[in-house]
Amino acid sequence: MSIPDRPFASYHLWSLVAPATGQERWHCQMRRGFVKARQHEPQVKALLGKATPPQRIGILAQKGVYEFHHHRHLLKQSDGVDQVAKLLQLSHTDREVQQRVRQILQKYHNAPLLLNKNILQLTPGDEGFPKPILIDQDDYCFRLYAAMDCVFIDSDRTLHILDFKTGKAAFDQRQALVYLLAARYLYPGREAVASFYNLELCKKSELIRINHHELASLEFELAHIAQQHQRDLQKYHQETGDFSKIFPPNPGSHCRFCPFRTICDFADLKQPQGHSMPILKGLGARG
Ligand code: SF4
Repeated sequence: MSIPDRPFASYHLWSLVAPATGQERWHCQMRRGFVKARQHEPQVKALLGKATPPQRIGILAQKGVYEFHHHRHLLKQSDGVDQVAKLLQLSHTDREVQQRVRQILQKYHNAPLLLNKNILQLTPGDEGFPKPILIDQDDYCFRLYAAMDCVFIDSDRTLHILDFKTGKAAFDQRQALVYLLAARYLYPGREAVASFYNLELCKKSELIRINHHELASLEFELAHIAQQHQRDLQKYHQETGDFSKIFPPNPGSHCRFCPFRTICDFADLKQPQGHSMPILKGLGARG
């Protein structure tokens, strides 16, 4: 199995390396091992290919916004929601997905956040890996992947990177930071901000900004993550039997929600006593 020839980083990798605030006790490095080192094994591939209902809802919601702006007249038409639902082939999905996506479409039709915005980029959300950005400095070199949902120009000419969310998980600022770093390379010299918008709750995050000095430290931190992960991959490919040493498991009640629980030798599938259900991040992220 080949190892990527150059280290890479993305928000997805960052989230697999280090937990978001409040998620520390559920964080398991072995998940990173399955996702990023063993992803081509048939069993792992099959598990990664199965989108969960929340993931499907996220993808369809993003695609719905894309379709509304691709066929703008639908935002004004009274049957616009039905038309977009048809384009998404919503009737082929299960009931929970259908209901929640329809509600999202209705909410967006009632209050389209991007209406009259100067949109530079709006992605359908199912386009796979974005093109990597090569970051080549004196001390490090890595590829950065940043799949931006939407980029538009604010009225004060600031570049605005917007990420759509669904569900109840809290916004993870690190994702916005990665976008701001990517924007520095994709749109050099432009002032940029990032924000999140939850399509189900119609809730906007604060605007996230980062100064030049913070961008440099962020880039350095991502280079470190990329190099460390690359080293882990090399170690694993040299000695696949060391999987659990390189990517140590952290079993617990959260294993019941882990997509790898059926193939993980360390999965703890006991019924937990009085534990609250963790919100685990999706695994099928682009990057
Ligand atoms: S089942 Fe548990 S120990 Fe195994 S990878 Fe998932 S979270 Fe980690």
